Amino acid sequence: MSQILQAIRGMNDILPDEAELWEQFEEQVRDWLRAYGYRPIRMPMVEPTPLFARAIGEVTDIVEKEMYSFTNSLNGEQLTLRPEGTASCVRAVLQSNLLYDGPKRLWYLGPMFRHERPQKGRYRQFHQVGVEALGFPGPDVDAEQIVMCARLWDDLGLTGIRLEINSLGHPDERARHRAELIAYLSKFGGQLDADAQRRLHTNPLRILDTKNPHMQEIVEGAPKLMDFLGEESLKHFEGVQALLRDAGIPSRINPRLVRGLDYYNLTVFEWMTDELGAQGTVCAGGRYDGLVSQLGGKPAPACGFAMGIERLLALWRDQGNKHTAPVPDVYVVHQGERAAGLAFRAAERLRDAGFAVHFHCGGGSFKSQMKKADASGALLAAIVGDDEAAANQVSLKPLRDQAEQRRIDFDELADAVGAWLYEWDDDDGSL
Ligand code: ATP
Ligand code: MG
Repeated sequence: MSQILQAIRGMNDILPDEAELWEQFEEQVRDWLRAYGYRPIRMPMVEPTPLFARAIGEVTDIVEKEMYSFTNSLNGEQLTLRPEGTASCVRAVLQSNLLYDGPKRLWYLGPMFRHERPQKGRYRQFHQVGVEALGFPGPDVDAEQIVMCARLWDDLGLTGIRLEINSLGHPDERARHRAELIAYLSKFGGQLDADAQRRLHTNPLRILDTKNPHMQEIVEGAPKLMDFLGEESLKHFEGVQALLRDAGIPSRINPRLVRGLDYYNLTVFEWMTDELGAQGTVCAGGRYDGLVSQLGGKPAPACGFAMGIERLLALWRDQGNKHTAPVPDVYVVHQGERAAGLAFRAAERLRDAGFAVHFHCGGGSFKSQMKKADASGALLAAIVGDDEAAANQVSLKPLRDQAEQRRIDFDELADAVGAWLYEWDDDDGSL
C-alpha cells in the first residue's frame, strides 16, 4: 500500500465534531452581525500581490515574510493567497463602487494564509471573521465595533477577554513621533537587538511591540506617540472612550499597542485572553482612514476588525462549550427487497414533512440495524419488513421510552411521527 498523503504543515482539517462546533459558532456570528446591520461580502482567496504590498505595507511582517506568493505560470502575474481580508474587501468595494450611495457595513468569513511557524493558536491556514465599516468618520462607529465584540463574547458565554486600546493619531503626528523615536533608539546603538536594528529606519513603531525583556527596558523610556497627538486626534480618542465608558466596557490604554499592519490610524484595539498561552489575541482592529485612497479610491474613512476563529473556538471549548452532534428524528431500518423500496420512499416522505431522517444503508440483520438506530440518538425507528411491505405500512418504534411499537399506514406516517415527537415535546420540553 502506498503511504497516505498528509496535509500541508500548519493547514488543518476541521473534522466533523469540530466542524459542527464551527457551524454553531458561525450561526451565532451571523445573528450578531445582522443585529448591527452588517451585510456579507465574499472576496476571492487569491489576489494580485501588489494589493497587499500597497495596503499592508512593504516593511510589515506579513508582507516581508509571511505571504504565500507565486507566479501565475500562464501570464507571469504575481499572485498571493490572501493573508487578511481588509485589503481585498476595500479593493472589492472600490472595484464595484459600493460607496456611491453612502457608507457601508460589511463582513466576511474565511481562510487566510500566512507562512508563520505553526504552533498552538498559530497556523498557516487560519480563519477570520472580518468586519469593516466604510465611509463613517467615527468615533461612534469605532466604539460600536468595540461594543459589538463585547456583545459577541457575551452571546458566546466567553469570559476573561480584556480590551486594550490606543490611538495612533494622524500620519503627520506619527511622522513627528517617528523622528524622535528613531533619535532616541539610535542612542542605544549596539544594545538594540537584531530585530530592532533592522526595523530602526523602516518600521520603528513596531520596536515598541518587542517581546525581548532587555529591549522592553529601552522601550519603556521611549517617546510616547500619545504625547504627539494633536487636538483632533485626542478628541476622537476621547469620544471612543466616552462611549465605551457609557456602555460599561472596561478598557486599558496600552500606549505600545501599534498593530502589525501599516494602514491603521487613530483608534486601534485588541481583545486578549490569558487562557490560550502565547497566542492570546483573539480579535484586533482599528481605524484605517487612509487605505481607501491608498488603493486608488476617493478618500473615505474606515474602521474594522478581525477575529481569529481558531483561537476563539479554542477558548469557547476550554470554557466548557461542548459540540452537540445533531440527532436524527427517525432512523429507518428495513429488510427484504420490497421493504427496502417502501422504506426508501418512507424516508423521503418524512423529509418532505421536515423531519431529519437517517436511512440505513448497507444491509445487515434487523438486530444490528436496530443497534445502529439506537446509537444514532434518533427518537424513533421506522421499521419495514416483509409484513409491513405487504400491507403498505411502517412500524414506528420509540427508542427513548417504553411506549409500544405501532403499525402505521404509509400515508399516515408523517402525521404519526409528528404527533409522537410533539407529544414528547409537551412532556418534558426537551426535544
Ligand atoms: P499575532 O500578533 O498573533 O501574529 P496579528 O497582529 O498578526 O496577530 P491580525 O493580522 O491582526 O493578527 O489578525 C487578527 C486576528 O487573527 C489575530 O488577533 C488572531 O486572532 C488571528 N490570527 C492572526 N494570525 C493568525 C495565525 N497565523 N493563526 C491563527 N490565528 C491568527
Ligand atoms: Mg502575526
